[in-house]
Amino acid sequence: MPDIDSFFSSDGPLARAVPGYTARAQQLEMAQAIAGTIASNAVLVAEAGTGTGKTFAYLVPALLAGGKVIISTGTKTLQDQLFNRDIPTVRAALKAPVTVALLKGRANYVCHYHLERTVQDGRASFASREEVKYLKMIERYAGVSKSGDKSGLSEVPENAALWQQVTSTRENCLGSDCPHHKSCFVMEARKQALAADIVVVNHHLFFADVMLRDEGLSELLPACNTVIFDEAHQLPETASLFFGESVSTSQLLDLARDIQAEALLGAKDFAALPLAIAAMEKAARDLRLTIEGENMRMPLAAVMKNAGFGSALDELLARLDALAAMLESQAERSEGLENCWQRTREMTGGIKRWRDEAEAEGFVRWVEVFSHALQLNATPLSIAEIFNKQLSGSPRAWVFTSATLSVKGDFSHYNSEMGLNAGPNASRSACWDSPFDFANQALLYVPTGMSEPSSREYTEEVVKAALPVLKASGGRAFFLCTSLRAMQRVHELLLIAFAREELEFPILLQGQGSRSHMLERFRKMGNAVLIGSQSFWEGVDVRGEALSLVVIDKLPFAPPDDPVLSARIEKINKEGRNAFMEYQLPRAVINLKQGAGRLIRDETDRGVLMICDPRLITKSYGKKIWRSLPPMKRTRNLTEVEEFFARSDATAGV
Ligand code: SF4
Repeated sequence: MPDIDSFFSSDGPLARAVPGYTARAQQLEMAQAIAGTIASNAVLVAEAGTGTGKTFAYLVPALLAGGKVIISTGTKTLQDQLFNRDIPTVRAALKAPVTVALLKGRANYVCHYHLERTVQDGRASFASREEVKYLKMIERYAGVSKSGDKSGLSEVPENAALWQQVTSTRENCLGSDCPHHKSCFVMEARKQALAADIVVVNHHLFFADVMLRDEGLSELLPACNTVIFDEAHQLPETASLFFGESVSTSQLLDLARDIQAEALLGAKDFAALPLAIAAMEKAARDLRLTIEGENMRMPLAAVMKNAGFGSALDELLARLDALAAMLESQAERSEGLENCWQRTREMTGGIKRWRDEAEAEGFVRWVEVFSHALQLNATPLSIAEIFNKQLSGSPRAWVFTSATLSVKGDFSHYNSEMGLNAGPNASRSACWDSPFDFANQALLYVPTGMSEPSSREYTEEVVKAALPVLKASGGRAFFLCTSLRAMQRVHELLLIAFAREELEFPILLQGQGSRSHMLERFRKMGNAVLIGSQSFWEGVDVRGEALSLVVIDKLPFAPPDDPVLSARIEKINKEGRNAFMEYQLPRAVINLKQGAGRLIRDETDRGVLMICDPRLITKSYGKKIWRSLPPMKRTRNLTEVEEFFARSDATAGV
């Protein structure tokens, strides 16, 4: 292995290639640990505080070691940043002759087959004129584009409903039976990924396609020497999603639509089929209607109390069985009909497994209710064993990194959730603290006199306590709430308070535009207050003056009535362990660290973190929480906060 130290030195290749590069001891140490992990095909869980430079710390050893590397990120933003900026920089600095591929999920590539179907069956003629125009554009694009990546056709909005009809899903892709297989964009992108030295994916794609070995990708993981997960704190959530099973009524309606299209082309003479499709469609819609309300997650037991639900589910299964039988009789007439028959059988099987007590052993069964759809989910109670099995097989190195994985350097929660705490895949864990001077750059403020967060007036008290701090900071704040309801209430209250006090700080509310657009406005305004919930807790980088205050309403404990969480808590407690200390608290700490991490993004940032929740002080576990945060100076005194901002303004010459 070439000498890692020289690459990171203050006169090394990175320093020459990256403007403003500073050699950091933490970065070098982390790179050395990763190099060692790669050389010995080991497992490393690495927490790297903000500013450590973890991206270069894993890219340099990964590129130097050679062999095939998969890098998986939590977000598409980081995926693009790695592919477009960081990897080219390191590759050029190291003069490493490696090939790189960016692989996205299927839904990002135009599918020739479904595009052709959509054009042929004239479905778009029922849609708006705009959609007809979009369809023509996509058709033209598919004819000239090399990649078929929908991001290359910005004239058609990313969220246009039409994209669903002209892209594929794992279920409706015909694979090697497809007449367009040779010119297929998805297959081409996968071929390139197989040939490249470095493949950049995201966690969803990793679990959905790489681990589950979707067509064209079955060779990717076996051929790979190193897997690096960045933003690895998101993995337990993503893995739970993909190691579980779900069937939604909207998937059933999509299936109905596809069968209709295939029947029109390949089985027009079979009059009974449209009736069977309509009956299944009606049964799916009726199932949704058995539950009132929307945007809810309900455990199986609660859903089953609703008498109508069980019978509607039976009716749906009967309709699906009837439809599957008809499709079986027509399956030989076309690849499309055959595929629809298989999908119908798979979805029927999924629903039957969901309903069957014996099949659901080790899984939490629950229902998510959306405004027009309903999803039946079976989520594993624990992903540890399943994930651990995936790590076995041919020897390779696994690196899990993020700014937030531990509770004050203790990784036992993360390791046990991911199955990395024992056995042949037991990880080595290490922590590299941020190089920033938190004691001088940041202040943690916990106001006095707050009621318990469960009290009715709590949000009013939060806003009242935050108002003088917002005045002192001159806006320039993120107001992060743990629930959408609190977020709305904070918004209402701040509007009133700002009007009353004649404060002219612009207020931005999550949902008023895309996240990137809102952040751009926030940066430009320079004195805005952005009120957000989960979307702004992580992956947001606002450097400098525009963000000088982060207010957090409550400690971010996940709602205990969530069906998956409550089943996991019950399981841990039944085993005689303490679910609060082992599971809920570490999760809240990791979340809080993410939210708090928005504040100080570089060596010159200064700011106040205000956590309104009194439990940080009054509860015995509170100490564990604030000790997990970066070592900021702490205060409960508003005057100290005002002085902090006055000093910052004087230094900045405001
Ligand atoms: S192989 Fe699948 S994704 Fe490719 S064109 Fe055919 S159906 Fe579409």
